[in-house]
Amino acid sequence: MRACQKCGAPAGPGDELCRFCGSPVYRQLTDEETEALVKVFLESQDKALKGLNGPRVWAAFAALVVLPFAAYFGSRALGAGWLVATSAVLFVIAACFAGVGGAVQVEQDLHFDRTVKGKIGEFLQENRLEKARFLLAAHKGMPPDSEVMKRLAKL
Ligand SMILES: [Zn+2]
Repeated sequence: MRACQKCGAPAGPGDELCRFCGSPVYRQLTDEETEALVKVFLESQDKALKGLNGPRVWAAFAALVVLPFAAYFGSRALGAGWLVATSAVLFVIAACFAGVGGAVQVEQDLHFDRTVKGKIGEFLQENRLEKARFLLAAHKGMPPDSEVMKRLAKL
């Protein structure tokens, strides 16, 4: 059943505009349709977030390759024994892994703020969806620990 989105008045099958208030008439999506639509949209955004390889991530990876060698030979050159040098290497590797993880997070946060937020706005407008309905469908369709949902929760 078609109804005016603004005043709620019923509309005929061929009506483009509401006969009462003149607003455009759109068919309201069912809950199932909304959920399916939101799920497809968010899955593609989540995929984009997971596939991010920004310059910060590459820099952190490069550090992971180079710095352990530097730590080993550096500490040997300073007169450290192999045990101390090896400890330095392990420490540096742990720090680099934390750095890579942090860099990925930063890239994802940036992408979410710069791109995904805008796309959500467009998506809501295109599908004439209210934010509350969108969020409800999102929570039903997406795992809560997905990258896009973690950030959506902070909106
Ligand atoms: Zn109306």
